[in-house]
Amino acid sequence: MTQSFDIVIVGGGLVGASLACRLSASAFSVALIEGQTPPDDPYEWDQRIYAISRGSRRYLQDCGAWQRLDASRCQPVNQMQIFGDERSELVFDADNAHLSELAIILESRHLQKAIWEGLPGHDKFTLIQPARPVSIHYEQDRAVLALDNQQTLSARLIVGADGARSWVRQQIQSAKGRADQPKPYGQKGVVANFDTEKSHQGIAWQWFQADGSILAWLPLPGNRMSMVWSAQDPLADELCQLAPEQLAQRVAEAGGYRLGKLTPITPAVGFPLRALVLPDLVGQRLALVGDAAHLVHPLAGQGVNLGFQDARDLADLLLKSPSVDPGSPSFLQRYERNRRFDILAMDGVTKNLHRLFNASGAAPKWLRNVGLNLTNRVPAVKQALIRQALG
Ligand SMILES: Cc1cc2nc3c(=O)[nH]c(=O)nc-3n(C[C@H](O)[C@H](O)[C@H](O)COP(=O)(O)OP(=O)(O)OC[C@H]3O[C@@H](n4cnc5c(N)ncnc54)[C@H](O)[C@@H]3O)c2cc1C
Repeated sequence: MTQSFDIVIVGGGLVGASLACRLSASAFSVALIEGQTPPDDPYEWDQRIYAISRGSRRYLQDCGAWQRLDASRCQPVNQMQIFGDERSELVFDADNAHLSELAIILESRHLQKAIWEGLPGHDKFTLIQPARPVSIHYEQDRAVLALDNQQTLSARLIVGADGARSWVRQQIQSAKGRADQPKPYGQKGVVANFDTEKSHQGIAWQWFQADGSILAWLPLPGNRMSMVWSAQDPLADELCQLAPEQLAQRVAEAGGYRLGKLTPITPAVGFPLRALVLPDLVGQRLALVGDAAHLVHPLAGQGVNLGFQDARDLADLLLKSPSVDPGSPSFLQRYERNRRFDILAMDGVTKNLHRLFNASGAAPKWLRNVGLNLTNRVPAVKQALIRQALG
């Protein structure tokens, strides 16, 4: 028997699950399909850390997830110090910008748990887990999904929130005869957490290194920090293979021992970095959000924030139009128009910074270092950058 819904969300990661929470305030019936079973211990320290912008925070408050976070595992960032490869420097300061903080640092698993605990309990919401769609076809004004657990669902709109290897994206592309694939940067983001000898005082650091790699230290509650080292594959693989104490020593040295001695609290994990911006965010009764829709370099720490903005915009449009057909071409075009500029802007900024800091030769070196110093001296440009990053 086919179960019918207004909206089916495929993928219960941060973006898809938050969208399901936000839509509980709407008149639409919603199903969420997640392919994996939940982790055994969601409380363990997670290497995967996010800098959540103020815009994402407001959205997560609207979803009811922010209120469920454990405040003792959230760390405000008061200042961000960025260094080029030739003594250039750019500092963003929350006080100078009249803000309580620049961002909040959170563990991915902690946020995931807070979002999942808020999944609606009413009869207009259905969670299907573990399950994955295997085929799609269309009947009049509905898309029909067959799942690998033999269930069949029909919906007026299917939202692909199924991450970087999105199945829903593949359906849009094959219908349009396209095959855009995520493009590897040839880099990995190596992440690990450390206890620190000195207090970080709520400061986040980022170093654009002479070898083209980018090292970020993000403050965690207490004397702890999380590093994301975006490095070419050979260096990233070397870092991941180091013994934990050797890695701690290497990371401390690369950051000029700003936090004194480091002690490892999680093993290092390397995530392959890829770029993807699609010509189409929508297809026949299909829409994409989060990493399914775009992949950006983590150097700006904005990937999940961009995904939350997709979900927020889609939810806002649906909440404002309770009687709309959510899969109609006119509605999907409105969603796509709303998102196009932000996604292209973030993709442009991260790709150009990545190119500039990876280019060898005197001219790019001069440009990137003078650029950082100049930006640092022009308050109006700094304010504009902060506004953009705050979402
Ligand atoms: C090293 C690194 C560091 C990063 N740091 C930051 C940062 O500091 N700040 C930031 O904002 N972003 C950061 N990002 C980006 C961020 O991790 C992603 O943007 C974010 O996780 C995307 O969330 P999502 O919900 O769209 O996708 P995902 O988290 O990938 O979730 C997709 C979900 O869909 C499920 N799924 C997949 N396929 C199917 C299917 N066929 N059927 C059913 N379910 C399915 C999966 O099990 C998963 O639960 C970083 C990324 C990397 C690699």
